[in-house]
Amino acid sequence: MDRRSFTLGSLGLAAGLAAPLPGLAQSAAYQGPNVVLVRFGGGVRRAETIDEAATWAPYLRHELAPRGTFIPDLRIDKLEGVNTSHAEGTLNLLTGRYLAYRELSEFLNDRLEPTEPTLFEYLRRSFDIPSHQVLLINGEDRPQEEFFTFGAGDHFGVEYRSEMLSLHRYKLYRTAMQLAEGTLPEDQLLAVAEERAALLTKDPRGATPDPSPEVQAFWARWRQDSGDTGLKNPRGDRLLTELATRAMADLKPRFLMVNYQDPDYVHWGNPSHYTRAIRVIDEGLQRLVSMADADPFYRDNTIFVITPDCGRDANPLAEVPFQHHFNSRSAHEVWAVIFGPGIGKGVIDRPVDQSAIAPTIAAAMGFAANRAEGQAIEGVFL
Ligand SMILES: [Zn+2]
Repeated sequence: MDRRSFTLGSLGLAAGLAAPLPGLAQSAAYQGPNVVLVRFGGGVRRAETIDEAATWAPYLRHELAPRGTFIPDLRIDKLEGVNTSHAEGTLNLLTGRYLAYRELSEFLNDRLEPTEPTLFEYLRRSFDIPSHQVLLINGEDRPQEEFFTFGAGDHFGVEYRSEMLSLHRYKLYRTAMQLAEGTLPEDQLLAVAEERAALLTKDPRGATPDPSPEVQAFWARWRQDSGDTGLKNPRGDRLLTELATRAMADLKPRFLMVNYQDPDYVHWGNPSHYTRAIRVIDEGLQRLVSMADADPFYRDNTIFVITPDCGRDANPLAEVPFQHHFNSRSAHEVWAVIFGPGIGKGVIDRPVDQSAIAPTIAAAMGFAANRAEGQAIEGVFL
């Protein structure tokens, strides 16, 4: 046994990852539908996404919304201390609760880790699903979202985490391989070692636990195609679509979350970045859904849940009229589109709370998100 497999094995994280822990009931094989949860993220307003005439996401609004249940009035509750932002909204979606997080470190702002179980953990505790089939796809420049795969505290935790695919993770893989291979000239090896050290400081949890063998193989193929320069892969949310479609083809996830984010670049002032980013996500949705419609593993067996992390302000007097940190009404106003087998068609014409998304996904997949505050949305299921 080499050192690496010894380390993995000693942590119980090798191939036997899905094996039940002592004291836990043997979990059942998963027979339910696949779920693809798309965070239409970076904060978007209803005006530019689901407004029938003004939308910058015509595929979402005109093709996908009519395919299933359209919830135009999803709301983030106005609770004391609830911030309408990206990590917060994403964790509301994943835990079905508000304020179920804490700062990961007092030295790193904006690094939240869940303090309640996430959908990943509920799912993998309930069913015998290997970690590479429960996937989170993240953007490159948001290491603060590297912590959503499992939570802190005394709940399910790391044994039930999802795997994460992001450019950050790929760079961790590539630098580890380059150092292990040792074929580069000395000065380049030093640069790689520095790059790796910098990557590791971004993530206080480090690279642990190591990706599963299946995910390592995924990165090996990615490296073969994209090379070591990092110049060949698409950037921004297009990269997330590329990672997601490849993961769908290669890893066959039963639960996949895609964390789109680029509309948020509007913070730096240019409204056209915002609307263009919405269009890029819409194109990404088209690729994800077309792929699911064409592949027998997904066709007629996959539920899509598409919803933003948060809204944005509507302040025509501000220089950038749509930030999202002022707790304004429209920053709390989001929406959801849910379609797939077992999902009804129609519009839910009443307010629905954001904390209902996690229990709805749980109900669709056949487990209970029993720490969620919300209830599965009535009228979604046939
Ligand atoms: Zn933002």
